Amino acid sequence: MSLRESATDMHDELVRLRHALHREPELGLDLPRTQEKVLAALDGLPLEVRLGQGLSSVTAVLRGDLPGPTVLLRGDMDALPVSERGDAETVSRLDGRMHACGHDLHTTMLAGAAHLLSARRDRLAGNVIFMFQPGEEGHRGAKIMIDEGVLDAAGEPPVAAYALHVISSVLPNGLFLTRTGTIMAAADKLIVTVRGAGGHGSAPHLAKDPIPAACEMVLALQSMVTRGFDVFDPVVVTVGAFHAGTVGNVIPEEARFEATIRSFSAATHERVLERSVALVEGIAAAHGLEVDACFDMGYPVTVNDGTEAEFVGDTVREVYGEGRFTRAPQPFTGAEDFSYVCDRVPSAFVVLGACPPDLDPRKAAYNHSPQARFDDAVLADGAALYAELAARRLDLAAG
Ligand SMILES: [Zn+2]
Ligand SMILES: [Zn+2]
Repeated sequence: MSLRESATDMHDELVRLRHALHREPELGLDLPRTQEKVLAALDGLPLEVRLGQGLSSVTAVLRGDLPGPTVLLRGDMDALPVSERGDAETVSRLDGRMHACGHDLHTTMLAGAAHLLSARRDRLAGNVIFMFQPGEEGHRGAKIMIDEGVLDAAGEPPVAAYALHVISSVLPNGLFLTRTGTIMAAADKLIVTVRGAGGHGSAPHLAKDPIPAACEMVLALQSMVTRGFDVFDPVVVTVGAFHAGTVGNVIPEEARFEATIRSFSAATHERVLERSVALVEGIAAAHGLEVDACFDMGYPVTVNDGTEAEFVGDTVREVYGEGRFTRAPQPFTGAEDFSYVCDRVPSAFVVLGACPPDLDPRKAAYNHSPQARFDDAVLADGAALYAELAARRLDLAAG
């Protein structure tokens, strides 16, 4: 029986696990109930299991009976602070928490892959690390797991790593997508505080008004994007918050704004951060004002290895047929902490269309929406793809 057929046989169990995770979403780095469910799902398998110290991660190592290198599979497990709107039967039981990014599906698929690969351990030429990761949504869970040794869990660094991510809209159901090079953006937050001197609206020359200067900064950041950066290595700057003052006839002491800055290559990432600070400092100086510009650093750019991305394409086409794979023409503008794994191991981040068949993917709610819905029917295919990638990549290394 093929891995795909074995996975299809597991469909009901996979759906049960996914719904159990979905009904009880947990946030951030501490997911005790999720961890319990994963451990229960892995119970009885021939795995070396280690739990995280600073987070509720589960690292499981499967050692194949045949010699060979190590491959890592990542599934993230955390939910979002979103109140779910959907079918009363299946929605989150915890108000204000929802698996709106589909990480419940990733966790389930990875547990499924652990079953599939354990069942054919006798033919497995090397080791597989199953990385069940909390805190993807802004908490750097992958980085913490790396610091706690996930990449050395099998005693040697992995030769390749793969992560799957479902998407509730845009892609048709069942379509796998990846690309060579950058697949996800880097996203950082810039926080700017312009300090002047407050005063009477009738006598601005006796005060130091921070508002016009801050407005100038917002516009100059947009000009910087179009004049200072290659349109084919883009930068996206959005000022999403701007706060200053109380009433119309008082000049405030300070103005404050926040921007997100997205970039798609390591070199541009570094340069856009430098240039934005230089820009706001220059404008403040020109107006005789003080400015504080600081960054809340997000995740780095997620860069797929070309060979691993090609290998994913070949595997999907062989297992599921030509029509199930497509190359992404451009990266996604979201960010991913799988980037920390990609920085250290040749990796591929793969997206899987999971829009339910009764919805139009062009109109369906996107990941993170309270209305986002993901189709259970993709669970078996996702589990089988994780397993195929690991088994075939180990075979490839064995020659
Ligand atoms: Zn997300
Ligand atoms: Zn996600």
